Amino acid sequence: MSDTTITPPLNPDLVVAKFGGTSVANAAQLRKVQNIIEADARRRVIVPSAPGKEHSKDTKVTDLLYLTHELAANQQSIDGVWSNIEKRFWGIVTDLGIRCDLQPHLDAARDAIVAGADAQFAASRGEALNGRIVACLLDAEYIDAAEVIRFTNNKRLDSETYTLLAQRIGGNGRYVLPGFYGANAHGEVQTFSRGGSDVSGAIAAAALCASVYENWTDVSGLLMADPRVVPHAMTIPEITYRELRELSYMGASVLHEEAVFPVRSRAIPIHIRNTNKPDDEGTRIVADRTPGPYLITGIAGRAGFTVIFIEKALMNKELGFGRRVLDVFERLGINYEHSPSGIDTLSIVVSDEELGNHLEQVLEDLQGAVHPDRLDVYPGMAMIATVGMGMNRQIGTAARLFNALASSGVNVRMIDQGSSEQNIIIGVEEADLAMGIKAIYNAFTPEDYPGIL
Ligand code: ASP
Repeated sequence: MSDTTITPPLNPDLVVAKFGGTSVANAAQLRKVQNIIEADARRRVIVPSAPGKEHSKDTKVTDLLYLTHELAANQQSIDGVWSNIEKRFWGIVTDLGIRCDLQPHLDAARDAIVAGADAQFAASRGEALNGRIVACLLDAEYIDAAEVIRFTNNKRLDSETYTLLAQRIGGNGRYVLPGFYGANAHGEVQTFSRGGSDVSGAIAAAALCASVYENWTDVSGLLMADPRVVPHAMTIPEITYRELRELSYMGASVLHEEAVFPVRSRAIPIHIRNTNKPDDEGTRIVADRTPGPYLITGIAGRAGFTVIFIEKALMNKELGFGRRVLDVFERLGINYEHSPSGIDTLSIVVSDEELGNHLEQVLEDLQGAVHPDRLDVYPGMAMIATVGMGMNRQIGTAARLFNALASSGVNVRMIDQGSSEQNIIIGVEEADLAMGIKAIYNAFTPEDYPGIL
């Protein structure tokens, strides 16, 4: 089944291009951004992040801004940190050699923070100020995101945002919309969670029915496996929204979680691209795709799980058994990840983060709730998700996967074939995580593999 829904036609002459923190970290990076924008007249809506890290030891401007708020809230001087922030912005303007009337906006931000503005306002200034620089550089119209991205009283996106954006960005000009923030009905600035410029870009693309949402970053797309585990992992050229969701849930990260939903509802492709290597193909995230050369799209894995195994004869005949089990977790406020079941067995997989120090309580409550014949705990487990559209319909997929694991000596402790038919999740001991991923990768991407056709 494809993810396609009925949608308004996309505008072939409009591309929304979002640039992440490293893409706008300094003047040299911003020159690359300028070249990218000028290479395609359809790139008319630009969504920049705040300047990120130039080098791994740098501090992001957003983090410096959070710090100014903290200092101000503790009645301490923000002068030292603020002068670093100013230097960073002015350094960019000077190195670019452009004219940009930034000082009044810097002063206004500083005054507001000293006067007690909240953390969200402080953090949002990174995008707000950088957006002004990008607008000067590209000779584009600057739009204050607080005027067009609106939140409801319960901090959700107000659907009015779509109308406001469409009205404001109606013409054929070039616009810069700073990422990461908007405002509530009282005009108070509110941010998305960290990395939220991805979400701003997705909302703008959806509101304007852009033909593509380009997400420019510092990697050439999503890889088939974590390169720390599989150094030669190939880039995924095309992946569906749903496949991406399965992979990111298991730890592969390239986009903010919430960035997929706005564009998905309008079937707008997301194109992940590398600002430093603009000729690379990148990864396209689409509603539907034709199968590629490999049966699987990607593999992702995570350590840090505990499996709670429950056995009880004839549990399948006991009405409400599953509900009583899950109720124990719900009452303790614990989210579970998977619950593979057999005739007389049910396993609950929980991340250690969620479980916290509640294990004893969970076991005691399960005893009381369902009186199991056996209740075992397997800590130190890892989950590996192998994702691929339609792979479960291909004869021999599971055999290939389990053979590969067996010949690498990886003991499979749990199997969960996701009901989306697009993934197989297996549980292994943490020590086997890397080996398991490597074995699956190699089994599905041998050099002489003829592909699925
Ligand atoms: N600047 C914000 C952050 O560092 C948002 C973003 O970059 O997307 O989280």
